[in-house]
Amino acid sequence: MQALFYFSNTRIICWVIIFFFSSTWATLAQQPAAFRCGTANFTPNRLAVLGRLSRTPQARSQAGTVSYVPLRLHIVRRADGSGGANEAVLYQSIAETNRLFGPGDLQLFVCGSPDYINSDALYNATGTSWSALDNLPGYSNAQLNVYYVNSLTINNYSYGGAAYINSTGTQRSALIVDNLARVLAHEVGHLFGLPHTFNNNDSANPTERELVARTNCTTAGDGFCDTAADPFGLPGATTSNCTYTGSIVDAQGARYAPDMHNNMSYWGCGTQYTPEQYARMQAVSQTSYSNLNCSQASPAAPTALTVIGGGCLGQPQLTWRNNATTPVALGYFIERAAGSGSFTAVAAVGAGVNSFQDYSAPGNVTVEYRVKPINAANAYSNAISITTARTYCPATYSAATTCASPTGAAGLGTITVRQGTSTVFAWNTPGCGPPYSAFPGQAVRLLPGTTYSLEVRLFTFGQGVVYLQHVSAWLDYNQNGSFTDAGELLLQSTPATQQQAVFTSTFTVPAGVSSGCGVLRVRTQSAGSGIITDPCAQLSWGETQDRPVLFGTVTATTTLTAGPTFALLPNPAAGRVIVKLGNALLAPNSLVLLDATGREARQLSLPSGATEATLTLTGLQPGLYLVRVGATTARLLVE
Ligand SMILES: [Zn+2]
Repeated sequence: MQALFYFSNTRIICWVIIFFFSSTWATLAQQPAAFRCGTANFTPNRLAVLGRLSRTPQARSQAGTVSYVPLRLHIVRRADGSGGANEAVLYQSIAETNRLFGPGDLQLFVCGSPDYINSDALYNATGTSWSALDNLPGYSNAQLNVYYVNSLTINNYSYGGAAYINSTGTQRSALIVDNLARVLAHEVGHLFGLPHTFNNNDSANPTERELVARTNCTTAGDGFCDTAADPFGLPGATTSNCTYTGSIVDAQGARYAPDMHNNMSYWGCGTQYTPEQYARMQAVSQTSYSNLNCSQASPAAPTALTVIGGGCLGQPQLTWRNNATTPVALGYFIERAAGSGSFTAVAAVGAGVNSFQDYSAPGNVTVEYRVKPINAANAYSNAISITTARTYCPATYSAATTCASPTGAAGLGTITVRQGTSTVFAWNTPGCGPPYSAFPGQAVRLLPGTTYSLEVRLFTFGQGVVYLQHVSAWLDYNQNGSFTDAGELLLQSTPATQQQAVFTSTFTVPAGVSSGCGVLRVRTQSAGSGIITDPCAQLSWGETQDRPVLFGTVTATTTLTAGPTFALLPNPAAGRVIVKLGNALLAPNSLVLLDATGREARQLSLPSGATEATLTLTGLQPGLYLVRVGATTARLLVE
């Protein structure tokens, strides 16, 4: 704890002026001279102490060993209980901050539940609000206290956030106005020993100003040698669209070239940290903050994490079992790792939610997921990996379909694939859909060298009214992520056929098609806008659907030989069903849902050790289905 002495100089207050974190930054960026920073500068003496700490090997944790930092969240509302920050937004900003802090092996979590403070005086905070807030019973020395207030005004200036450490270092808290992750990450950065990159650039003592050549980088400026000298706030330090345009020079006549993307500056152009900044945070975490802890009970870890949607089409869809009852989970952090890389937070979901679709997942790569409660240090679920879907061009429209009007409801109804007269698969999307939809869970299996027919029925409005539309369809036979290879156009309406409500064509799957998954894309647009020749171009208004198509015959895999026992709860089921396994799986397995004709309607990957899984049933026609895990099957009635 000897490291605490570096706080003994004075109390450190750092103001973050609000407009640097507001959406109006773009216009205010032209006026950095308007910036005011109160008493933010770290003194050279303090920089020296922090610098020594950073360079002390014992102060560093083993790389890859994560320090979990407990936050005590305080949400300040008006006296009548109105107003106050939205918890879901806060959790999202903590997830984003964890992503930024990942390379520094630092992860924030919420200790206990948020503390609500109802006070008109503190709702709009001032420079004296700290002592009032820290004296309330909700304050805890064992965590970092973060107060979310409506506004912070000091000497008639508005600020977006501020960090505070008292003279003995025992009190450390942050005030946040903007619920943005970069504000939280900036203020917590201060609490972990990071000065502004422009620290002391206007100091009366020239030796405290960092030179562009960085020859004095350990004692001047922010004390880091891998952050450029930053002229932010100096007269003439101008910027345009996140490019530094100033021509002012340092004491040696060298022109400044600041890093516009560092989160400890105010340029508002990025949220990056440097290796020395990460090392500093880690060192402070290991020393000054090693006594932080959360004595609140930790919610139980979620289990049975499963993921679908990889390999062929659609963004990964995660589901897990929420086991936290006492205490409940405030929500969950979703973490993703690429290949053998380390996990990074990608999102947060709220209390009671047990699913997440990862729209930010990169295409056609293997990623791994895990989830944990927002209010737990490291109560992680099982990890599960998936190869994400290949990426197809977006299908967009310049105008939204007007679902409420028969003259604007240009949409798709049922898409049917037949072999001869027998239906192989029918995708039915009743109602008026969004401009683009993908349905990764509903695949049709087609055989090489076999001829099929495709039928596209338009969306019917009210009493069978159909808007006049053109329709085109493509199938990515060679599974290369493009629809434009020879023979991949299956259907294209012409001016002569545009009066129809049903469009059909026949197609033969090439005999040499590779086993795997292609995508069928069906597009429509209002007939007045012409025939559809491009699978990717923006159309006027209408609808596009992507459907997965499996080529080749069903091949038994080794995972189908085991025969675990399981129960379906409830049965009959609507919406979803829990598949409870008799024993934990000894090896990864798969769960398949087959419809009454034996076609696969859903599939789930079950990780080794799984004891149950949640199968989503939304979008399925009511009826009798078979659930198969390994060689064991059971009947499921979907309502
Ligand atoms: Zn600051």
